[in-house]
Amino acid sequence: MNEAKILVLDDEASICEICTRSLRRYSYDVVATTSPRRALEILKAEDYDLLLLDVRMPEMDGVEVMRRVRGFAPDIAIVIMTGYASLEAAIEAVKQGAADFLQKPFQLDNLRLAVSGALAKRDLARERARSQALMHLVQVSEKLASSLDTNVLVQSALYAAMTETGGQRGSVMLYQPEEGVLRVEGAAGLPQEVSVGYAVSAEQGVVGHVLKCGRALLVEDVQQDGRLVGLSLRQEQYDNPSFLSMPIRAGERILGVLNLSEKVGGAPFLASDLEVTGLLCNQLAIALEKAYLFGEIQESYRRLQEVDRLKSEFIHIAAHELRTPLSIILGYAMMLREELEESQREQIDAIVDSSLQLNCLVDDMTNLRYLESGEVLLVAHQLDLSEVIEEVVTRFEQLIQNKDLHVSCQIPDSLPPVRADREKVELILSNLLSNATKFTPMGGSIHIRAEPRADKVLVAVEDTGPGIPQQECERIFEPFYQVEDSLRREHGGMGLGLSIARELVLLHDGRIWVESQPEAGSTFLFTLPRADEEQL
Ligand code: ADP
Repeated sequence: MNEAKILVLDDEASICEICTRSLRRYSYDVVATTSPRRALEILKAEDYDLLLLDVRMPEMDGVEVMRRVRGFAPDIAIVIMTGYASLEAAIEAVKQGAADFLQKPFQLDNLRLAVSGALAKRDLARERARSQALMHLVQVSEKLASSLDTNVLVQSALYAAMTETGGQRGSVMLYQPEEGVLRVEGAAGLPQEVSVGYAVSAEQGVVGHVLKCGRALLVEDVQQDGRLVGLSLRQEQYDNPSFLSMPIRAGERILGVLNLSEKVGGAPFLASDLEVTGLLCNQLAIALEKAYLFGEIQESYRRLQEVDRLKSEFIHIAAHELRTPLSIILGYAMMLREELEESQREQIDAIVDSSLQLNCLVDDMTNLRYLESGEVLLVAHQLDLSEVIEEVVTRFEQLIQNKDLHVSCQIPDSLPPVRADREKVELILSNLLSNATKFTPMGGSIHIRAEPRADKVLVAVEDTGPGIPQQECERIFEPFYQVEDSLRREHGGMGLGLSIARELVLLHDGRIWVESQPEAGSTFLFTLPRADEEQL
């Protein structure tokens, strides 16, 4: 089935009749008229694929008809029919874009061939124009995808829409819901007052209408379009009476409106212009959403940084202010302890123990602050780890006994020395051991091992405690993070030990991590650089 629509225009009714009958036999949808004015009306009212046109007509010359038709239907295929006398006019018409011409009298077969050839040529030209437009669109999409600057996005989309459609005036207006206005973010070819920043009420006019109904508006003639009644349009602004307004839509939200007018050559905007502008507006909407989101993320990040700064400041002040009264309490408690009888020391011991615990917390707070501010200096020497491990374990002897824990160490005699800061390694180990003794239940066991690995030494502290859920294994190294809710937890601590250990390990260019499963104990592992690394 041939669906192409053909209009035949010839002042001789018999030619109209012959062409109509012959072409209908090939299933073309054919309408014929002998009046050029009527033909123009028909073509304006409806889209046709081909115009079969006589050159010589008393009412209006065929070349003039063609010129006018091209004004509003630029890609209609045109085939000229002519007698011998007007061959020159026919050649002129072909020069001006007619696809073919038939010399009267013509064979009906030639008519069919000319028509099908002209339609094929038109389809090819359309296809070519379409792929060219698509190529441009791809380039514009790439540009839109690569920027987060609203200004650049709006300008690129507007420029592309104007280039693709031939619109010589254009604007992009973005909706500002808090103010209830549409504000110009990009403008070209418009009067000076309609420049970036100019705002109109989002409730009024054509743009307000497009924003509200969310559908594009393609107007061929501002004077005759009934949809514009009541939209307070200043018709005198339009030299060319056709314009196009397209909503910029991101899902359900309408971000603004893109307007185009003054198409080149006084031609009206076409359905194809609507299509290409729609595609561009979709791309623009996605790019704008991305830019807005990025802006919000940046703002949240800025606020987070501020909160983080305040938190560090607070820790610093709190640690500083606690230290003096704490040392007074501890000093006097120790002094009193010396002066009291053995039988009276129990209460004082409780004060001393609690003060020492508080002192550890204040130390943690201070350490974290120094580490975060990068003020900590590494004094690295060659270090025998077995010695350090042994010493740290001794510090926990009392606790180990109290909880009846079984502690074992596995350190080969051949363990190479590490290059590290002794004080810091002690702190790493004691934070890990403190957690292991704290979280392992009565009668459980703790195993410490160290082994050489390429250019590192690996240290592992393994316990038979409650284990840690997989999804928490990264987060526990963040400051103040604790798996249990801090108000319901049975163990003390502020959630700083592991973050301090991590910072200290990182200072040594090492790595720290945990391997654990709930109910299956935890193994905390870290690496330190080997001191004999250079000789390896
Ligand atoms: P704190 O022990 O003071 O809470 P840490 O930073 O040392 O702070 O540890 C953070 C959290 O990681 C702990 O609160 C605990 O939930 C979890 N955790 C640390 N070590 C162990 C362990 N050996 N067994 C089980 N959970 C642990």
